[in-house]
Amino acid sequence: MRIVVLVKYVPDINADRRFEDCRVVRDPGEGTLNELDENALEAALRILDGLDEDERAASEIVALSVAPPDGDIALRKSFQMGVDRGIRVSDDTIAGSDYFGTAAALAAAVRRLEQDAPVDLVVTGMAALDGLGSVVPTLVAAELGRPSLTFAKKIALADGVVEITRATDEAVETLSAALPVVLSVADTANTPRMPNFKLIMAARTRTIEEWSAADLGIDAAVVGAGAARSTTTSATPRPEKPEVELVQDKGSGGRALAEYLIRNDLV
Ligand SMILES: Cc1cc2nc3c(=O)[nH]c(=O)nc-3n(C[C@H](O)[C@H](O)[C@H](O)COP(=O)(O)OP(=O)(O)OC[C@H]3O[C@@H](n4cnc5c(N)ncnc54)[C@H](O)[C@@H]3O)c2cc1C
Repeated sequence: MRIVVLVKYVPDINADRRFEDCRVVRDPGEGTLNELDENALEAALRILDGLDEDERAASEIVALSVAPPDGDIALRKSFQMGVDRGIRVSDDTIAGSDYFGTAAALAAAVRRLEQDAPVDLVVTGMAALDGLGSVVPTLVAAELGRPSLTFAKKIALADGVVEITRATDEAVETLSAALPVVLSVADTANTPRMPNFKLIMAARTRTIEEWSAADLGIDAAVVGAGAARSTTTSATPRPEKPEVELVQDKGSGGRALAEYLIRNDLV
């Protein structure tokens, strides 16, 4: 079994974010692994955990990221969880890519991996916490001409067929597709494992392979800001949240609350 997990390097959601030229400023060292991709890594690791020793030895999980060099932090975290290999695709021509450009670069890297051996599964998170498009998995599937199973809550793999359960507002759906498949994993699918000390230490010195656009034969016309099909025309920081006033109930909480509502014209 050969699994590629797509891991995105994103700005830390707890850090202050700012925009320049309508783009999120990515300060060096401020980013992290997209938290939702930990569910994808966990799903892939559990699939391999279910294999017998010989099958596991013949299997591989590759973490793949399209990111600037700082993005190595996302790949190191993937090593800490237990992946076998980490690849970063970086190239100035890819900077500024939209969803389509990003998906084209990711798919090109999967195709490059397939020159050595088939890739059975491409596993992704359900969204990147910065872009929140949730479209990259299906675009990668389209680029590769593979089925796309999205927002998987339960995942079962038997006889070369992946079966997933996904919950929508109206129904719980069961879908299946024959390998090779692109699979996005919901945040409710699992609880990502805590890395153990040995893996944390080993991750520090693991080699991260770096591929360029030229290595992958990526056509410069389909990636980068120039190829983006949409343009961000404005990005305005949200107004600061108003200060919180804590009303403590020491017997007169109801009155204090009513006074607060009147004072702030909320009734
Ligand atoms: C006009 C335009 C210009 C942009 N310019 C920039 C820019 O300069 N710099 C920039 O960082 N972003 C830029 N973006 C945003 C960028 O295109 C998206 O962040 C990217 O396509 C991924 O989309 P998403 O974040 O919505 O991912 P989603 O579709 O929400 O991601 C779902 C899953 O796909 C996988 N995935 C997504 N992206 C990656 C990745 N890069 N590597 C590995 N796995 C991934 C992850 O598993 C993730 O959980 C731009 C967007 C537009 C529209």
